[in-house]
Amino acid sequence: MQSTRTRSVEDCHVLIVDDQISSRLILESLLDDMVTCTLVSTAHEAIEWSRANKPDLILMDVVMPDMDGHHACKILSENVETANIPVIFVTASATDIEQEKCREAGGVDFVEKPVNPTTLRNRVKSHLNHKLKTDLLEKLIYLDRLTGAYNRHYLEEVIPSVIRDAERNQRDLSFVLFDIDHFKQFNDLYGHLEGDSCLWTICKETMQSLLRPLDVLVRVGGEEFLAILPETDEKGAFSVANRLIATIESLGLKHEHSPTNVVTVSAGVSSYQQADDGMSEHGILRADKALYEAKARGRNNAVLYNANME
Ligand code: GH3
Ligand code: MG
Ligand code: MG
Repeated sequence: MQSTRTRSVEDCHVLIVDDQISSRLILESLLDDMVTCTLVSTAHEAIEWSRANKPDLILMDVVMPDMDGHHACKILSENVETANIPVIFVTASATDIEQEKCREAGGVDFVEKPVNPTTLRNRVKSHLNHKLKTDLLEKLIYLDRLTGAYNRHYLEEVIPSVIRDAERNQRDLSFVLFDIDHFKQFNDLYGHLEGDSCLWTICKETMQSLLRPLDVLVRVGGEEFLAILPETDEKGAFSVANRLIATIESLGLKHEHSPTNVVTVSAGVSSYQQADDGMSEHGILRADKALYEAKARGRNNAVLYNANME
């Protein structure tokens, strides 16, 4: 989930990957006053943990029994969710060939074992500072200033690769498109500033209480938002949409020109399924058709897309 606060090195999370417990503990002891560390002992765990938690940097052992560090780094760099996590290899061999392998695998740097504490700390700090600057730039480019949700640039430039990733890896992916009901009347009645504040509250609530770490919220129009839910099937997405509707209604934001007397939203839900082809172009359009149906059925409800809506 996106946050609008500026982060510093102390807020960063470093993943330490090494099959030997002594090596993991040494690296942790050298860094844990500076950053938060998580330790894992296999390449597979490193990939899974990184996808779910998106660390700011990975210290990766090269020789490990389940998969070597180069291979793990390549997998991380080919996955859109983990591609921008810098990987520093921690390697016993610093030959030219080894250095070249680290670079080809997508690593940003390497440190030699046994590790020199000052070298390690300086390299980690320097790569984290670089990562924080890149993250900040991405935020400025991709975040909507009013609500803190992602903006249309993000939808156009980043989301296509999220969808391709889900298709390639045959993972579930769902879309919940929602729109505030009677919002023109809300603005007319209470003024534009109150309208902005209402948009902000709805986004904050959605991001805090409904979305999982991999989920993304995009402001696609003035008062229209798209929640992109990876690894979520149709049933799960429909229940997220219904929870969203109940949560927004329960906020009790006064709207005297709404039949419920409070601000409500309507939602359209669509899902990419493994048997489904050609979803990439149509997933969001399908959610839009379902949203149209939700509005037609009286608003303050969620509708799941079906082929009859074509
Ligand atoms: P419906 O229930 O069918 O969605 O009706 P609606 O009035 O919400 O939809 P409509 O598309 O007619 O109007 C959308 C309104 O949303 C227009 C504008 O007043 C308001 N709006 C759009 N963007 C912003 C914004 O950034 N700030 C504020 N305050 N209002 C906005
Ligand atoms: Mg090893
Ligand atoms: Mg509306």
